[in-house]
Amino acid sequence: MRFVSPLLKRVVYPVLAKAGVFRRSAGEGLAVVTYHGIRPVGYDPIDPALDGNLVSADVFRRQLRLLKANYSVITPDEMLGWLGNRREFPPRSVLLTCDDGLLNNLTEMLPILEEEQLRCLFFVTGASAGDKRGTLWYEELFLTFLRAPSGHFAISCEGIDVAGDLGARGQRLAVWWNFVKRLSQISAEGRYTFIQHARDQFGVNDPGNSADVDDPASRRFKLLTRPELQRLAAAGMAIGAHTLSHPMLSQAPHDVAWAEIAQSRTRLEVALEKQVWALAYPFGSPDSVTTDVLAMAKKAGYQAAFLNFGGGLGVELPRYAIPRIHVTAEMSLSEFEAHLAGFHAFLQRRAASSAQVNFQTARD
Ligand SMILES: [Zn+2]
Repeated sequence: MRFVSPLLKRVVYPVLAKAGVFRRSAGEGLAVVTYHGIRPVGYDPIDPALDGNLVSADVFRRQLRLLKANYSVITPDEMLGWLGNRREFPPRSVLLTCDDGLLNNLTEMLPILEEEQLRCLFFVTGASAGDKRGTLWYEELFLTFLRAPSGHFAISCEGIDVAGDLGARGQRLAVWWNFVKRLSQISAEGRYTFIQHARDQFGVNDPGNSADVDDPASRRFKLLTRPELQRLAAAGMAIGAHTLSHPMLSQAPHDVAWAEIAQSRTRLEVALEKQVWALAYPFGSPDSVTTDVLAMAKKAGYQAAFLNFGGGLGVELPRYAIPRIHVTAEMSLSEFEAHLAGFHAFLQRRAASSAQVNFQTARD
């Protein structure tokens, strides 16, 4: 897929979008889109791998207007109605979701949703059920490894002993991703202890703990607190769970994964005094879940659970593995439409199956 993507993005998608092909060929059913928030004005992106999930306010507004003009944006309540077999989807239905519960979801995203009179399902972590302002551990870890001095390193902390080399950006990203998996195996407290230990060892400063909500960096990195989450809910937005502390569930021990899934629901229900019916798996990539994890979502009492790949209009929506379209900052409006129509996911499946054929041919 990687080798066809530039041609698709720059040439094919714009031509097909302009000709209205995506809208005419769009399938039935529902497409679910995933946002992660709006990049606050005054925040300078640090790295595409860190900030690439955040769209500008202008792009967000343009995407919402395109959806309103050509698709049926349903409310989270309507989705719940469909899950209970109480209603059908209107043609070309789209559900808006947003993961992680960053402060900008309230400060930059909510005003635009209200302006456009649309509802979104926000998936937040257990941190947003409390009063202490949190951050995402894997983002702190990313900044630590991005800023660490080049050269050989060996870290031994919280039962994790890893040695490696840090140099070019790609190498740092690979080391970081390896640690995301390793640290998902230990407790949330252990992860922060590890990060502090790594910072001290590398001589990297803590990114700071500004309590000022007007600070663009706070809006970028800090998580919503309980009163802020209540404001989001009071504005008519639905709240779903994104586990307690955002580990990669496929890596976590069974009892830890269960607590992350089940307790995030009960904590949010206490904080909001409302039923929490939806779960989004952290990271949401194919390797972030297992069949065991999907079964836990059902057992914990959720009505539905969402992945973060493979989305596009379709009627095949496995209740505990609902695909979503991951919206990124560099996604053009025509690419956005190619995803909505299910065209992009279709090509991905084709590419995956032809890769499989090639693999089999090579083995034969
Ligand atoms: Zn997330």
